[in-house]
Amino acid sequence: MSMPKVRVRFAPSPTGPLHIGGLRTALYNYLFAKKYSGDFILRIEDTDRERFVPGAEDYIVESLKWCGVAPNEGVGFGDGPFAPYRQSERKNLYKNYADTLVESGSAYYAFDTGPELEELRKKTHPAGASPLQYDTSTRMSMKNSLVLPAAEVKRRIDSGEKYVVRIKMPADEEIKVTDLIRGEVIVHTSQLDDKVLFKSDGMPTYHLANVVDDYLMKITHVIRGEEWLPSAPLHVLLYKYFGWENVMPQFVHLPLLLKPDGHGKLSKRDGDQLGFPVFPLEWTDPATNEVSSGYRESGYFPDAVINILALLGWHPTQAQEIFTLDELVHEFSLEHVAKGGAKFDPEKAKWLNQQYLRSKSDDTVAEVFQKQLSDKQKIYGFKMPDSEYLKKVCHLLKEKASFINEFWSLGKYFFIAPDKYDTDIVRKKWNEKNAGFFSALKEKFLVQKSFTHDELEKTFKQEATGLGIKPGEVMQLFRVIITGGAGGPALFEVVALLGKDEVMKRIERALTEFKF
Ligand code: GLU
Repeated sequence: MSMPKVRVRFAPSPTGPLHIGGLRTALYNYLFAKKYSGDFILRIEDTDRERFVPGAEDYIVESLKWCGVAPNEGVGFGDGPFAPYRQSERKNLYKNYADTLVESGSAYYAFDTGPELEELRKKTHPAGASPLQYDTSTRMSMKNSLVLPAAEVKRRIDSGEKYVVRIKMPADEEIKVTDLIRGEVIVHTSQLDDKVLFKSDGMPTYHLANVVDDYLMKITHVIRGEEWLPSAPLHVLLYKYFGWENVMPQFVHLPLLLKPDGHGKLSKRDGDQLGFPVFPLEWTDPATNEVSSGYRESGYFPDAVINILALLGWHPTQAQEIFTLDELVHEFSLEHVAKGGAKFDPEKAKWLNQQYLRSKSDDTVAEVFQKQLSDKQKIYGFKMPDSEYLKKVCHLLKEKASFINEFWSLGKYFFIAPDKYDTDIVRKKWNEKNAGFFSALKEKFLVQKSFTHDELEKTFKQEATGLGIKPGEVMQLFRVIITGGAGGPALFEVVALLGKDEVMKRIERALTEFKF
């Protein structure tokens, strides 16, 4: 039998912004699909109307677009042959599947009301707030089609009484889930309850819709987060009850993303506390207006985010850390996805972005920085530099930063004279002799023909040595005069770029303002 075409799906529920763990799931699906020339589908699982959050779906689509992890079928990316891809729009097809299971004796109608179920919960778990168990041990004392006479069931349904459809979990069976990463996971049905498949609001639950759609959309591999592993036995059972075992997808449950210290699942709170985003894009909660930061707005490059996520749970065979999306497609394999949780390392994330920043062309970087600079220009009113100047600034700053967002604070002296100086250095180093040096240096620079970094450096050193000063003695001071602080790109490159007029002004100002 020839292998069917690989078809995988990312199936988020629009219950809030996409977490980076969700984005990683999408990425691994994408890589797997591309690697095997398969299809990658985006399906929106929005049947839980109570948890529906407006804007979440658009957010998911925009996040995938931003990262370049584009599905080839699905909501927001053009319909394919299995449209619609939004479960709320497929609403009408699920009921028949639920009814089929009732007819074959694998599911049943249940009429129990909320208060009745609460009573059951109290009866079975008198002490605590344990969840309700509607299962083999309790189902026969409830109001359902297994207990009530057929005529009574019909009467209730015909009169419009609300009901749900529940799966009839076999009493004593083992369900085997084969997971491509974890091997065989065996669960005994006594551990499982009679999950609702179809709700009284006319919507299927996640379990039913998910399995039916994976079947209808010819999904070959279900690649999803580890948190869905406990649902897998139920899904396997549904495939069996529907008679679809021969086309059941392979299951792959990806390791959890863990907090930086490895203790527990990575949460938004960890990000807030340790200062890194857990969402790809900024998100404003429509209910509270609370804003959560995003990788995009924090200045991460989409290709860096992809690289960061690729390494969270998957290990390349060779000692390489920087991968383009194409390289990832080539290298990715499920065999190298770990079982254990993947610790999120915010420092490594920053480091990776820095590697990407350094490898970007000055043009690309300047284009992004220009936008940020125009905002600053509105505040500080400096003359906007030409693109050549801007590119050179970017060339120097990209070696010193992890993010373009840091450029202004690291290098505002390229655009405005320092508004304050590192007073410690001035206090320590500014004396009559050094002041004399700078006033002589100013005269030398004034007549300097070629204002290039090596010529300037030569002049600087000659002048210092001539006055019996070690160049190192006055170098730091010179940096403070030019940039206001210590540290930064090669000083004479900065000086050359600023140009003679500006450098003259800055030395002059130091000569009048610095006191000893
Ligand atoms: N709708 C589920 C979610 O929100 C999908 C899980 C799955 O991929 O089966 O993640």
